[in-house]
Amino acid sequence: TSQPATTGPAVRSHCPYCALQCGMALTPVPTSPDGGGGVPDAGARPRLTVAPREFPTNRGGLCQKGWTSASVLTTGDRLTVPLVRGADGELARATWDEALDVVAGGLARIAAESGPEALAIFGGGGLTNEKAYMLGKFARTVLRTPNIDYNGRFCMASAAAGGNRAFGVDRGLPFPLADLGGAQAVLLLGSNVAETMPPSVLHLAGARSAGGLVVVDPRLSVTAQLTEDGAGRHLAPVPGTDLVVLLALLHVIMAEGLADTDYLEERTSGADDVTRSVAAWWPERAETVCGVPADDLRSTARLLAAASPSRGGTGAYVLTGRGVEQSSQGTATVTAAINLALALGLPGRRGSGYGAITGQGNGQGGREHGQKSDQLPGYRKIDDPATREHVAGVWGVDPATIPGPGKPAVQLLDSLGRDGGPRALMVHGSNVVVSAPNADHVRERIAALDLLVVCDVVPSETARLADVVLPVTQWAEEEGTMTSLEGRVIRRRQAVDAPGEVRSELWILAQLAARLGSPAHLMGTDPAAVFDELARASAGGPADYSGLSHEVLDADEDAAGPGYFWPVPAAGAAAPPGTAQHPGTPRMFLDGFPTPDGRARMVVVDHVGPSDDVRADAPLYLVTGRVLQHYQSGAQTHRVAELEKAVPDPFVEIHPSSGSGSASRTAAGRGSSPRVA
Ligand code: SF4
Repeated sequence: TSQPATTGPAVRSHCPYCALQCGMALTPVPTSPDGGGGVPDAGARPRLTVAPREFPTNRGGLCQKGWTSASVLTTGDRLTVPLVRGADGELARATWDEALDVVAGGLARIAAESGPEALAIFGGGGLTNEKAYMLGKFARTVLRTPNIDYNGRFCMASAAAGGNRAFGVDRGLPFPLADLGGAQAVLLLGSNVAETMPPSVLHLAGARSAGGLVVVDPRLSVTAQLTEDGAGRHLAPVPGTDLVVLLALLHVIMAEGLADTDYLEERTSGADDVTRSVAAWWPERAETVCGVPADDLRSTARLLAAASPSRGGTGAYVLTGRGVEQSSQGTATVTAAINLALALGLPGRRGSGYGAITGQGNGQGGREHGQKSDQLPGYRKIDDPATREHVAGVWGVDPATIPGPGKPAVQLLDSLGRDGGPRALMVHGSNVVVSAPNADHVRERIAALDLLVVCDVVPSETARLADVVLPVTQWAEEEGTMTSLEGRVIRRRQAVDAPGEVRSELWILAQLAARLGSPAHLMGTDPAAVFDELARASAGGPADYSGLSHEVLDADEDAAGPGYFWPVPAAGAAAPPGTAQHPGTPRMFLDGFPTPDGRARMVVVDHVGPSDDVRADAPLYLVTGRVLQHYQSGAQTHRVAELEKAVPDPFVEIHPSSGSGSASRTAAGRGSSPRVA
């Protein structure tokens, strides 16, 4: 996917999809009387050309999704006017005043009848930091409801829980992605980056050339194939037993004296208990559960140890993805991965570490600014009195009036329309009836609502169920910021005007706030000003943005600076105007962990098996996977002609040895070619 970087007057921005946030150069297509000057696409004309731009995560590369992303701006069924469901049951065009009056009137009526907890908001990890922040503020200061959460709960909440427990903070990758390039070994669990974020594979080149790329995946995924020809090894555990692989690797590290004992002594707590707990997972026993040959487990542990700095290696990384995190044992598996990394002395050491690979475009920033039911801006607990005091001060409200914590996503969706549960739901940047677990159940709960409002760019499956649909701006039509999988805060810039009567969520929230009687100053609409407020609200928290502004980020990019990774505390009084005195924190934990004693916590975890397993009447495992061409629920990518043509439908790969009718937990035959149905 590598291409020369683009030069010229194009607008610098980033891809609308995944958390790699590849750099892009966006050039508006000159308009003509018929509305555009490009190649016809899905009945509309591209208004933008997209070219790759040199940026550290993608180094001038884009995947097919990025190359074709301009099509989403002009897809034939783009929402361009507000829609309100009429007495005939159909969605029909309305003016903004009419639609906003229906929404505000419905919210006010339901709150008056059932209290503010009858109102709920569901956000998304693709929203800009500014939108995510304002959604949280709107919920807590205008609606006065604790019920706000977002789709990130379906993704890497277990990784966040594991990271917070071990390190005292959760930043997906606590180091720049480019650092991977110097590593001698990379252990990648449950992540198919060659499909989901292809340019990231560039950063695995060093490990591959050293024969040190280890991919743990039940399938011979495209990423697992990168280990062939001496580049590394593919470990294919029985689905649901990744945790056993990790326990066995740690067993070998401890039993063979390969751990970094000085590091364990000085920088961790709990190592003795963890060492004792993995004594039961000798490789031969692990093999009977996970199916990975004992010899492979031993040699992999030795490979990782040899790459660790304490044993003279150039560095090693342990990385997890959704494949091991989206599981009833997700947090335990992440914890085991962190235990392994700590035993090798990797986190907080330059050129080594542990990280969770964020998927959604703003999955990192989206979980930092108050969209989560239990958090306030700055990635802080909502029940912490000092945090409440600080954020209330920024918002100009009484701390006692900030409601929460509320219900996390799955419980929130399950409570819709029930006695005492929300009767009205506003959905922003999420297609819950496709992407939420137990989607049919979610559809039932949504049907029980009195009011469903969906803000979206296309008529997604969820939008089609709404009482009111509000058309909103998308990536190249708006200003704002995103935070990449590395915790790097980056600028999203507007390259084209939004079509029709499309508006930003910031404008919509301000309009609703005014109709609901809130003071005009409460809900800002200028992204730069909203960011400044967000930065103040985040001050002192783990995700501290207080040293940043759009101006600072723009100036850094103009000067080809290194970018800013949070935390970025505010500049001192002596700093020149518009300058962030603090350089940001590309590499976390170098001087200690933000835990009470400064040590990383190792926590005992053990294998209990999947919550549901194969049996005589259900003899096959179904493992979810990703394809390069589609992103999340496909609401965007299924509307791009090239991507849709390449992969029009979901498909199932069936292993050649399936069909015997007998439940089997063996690993025999895994890794061979599947059949496609
Ligand atoms: Fe890059 Fe991800 Fe966009 Fe592909 S989808 S171009 S990997 S940001």
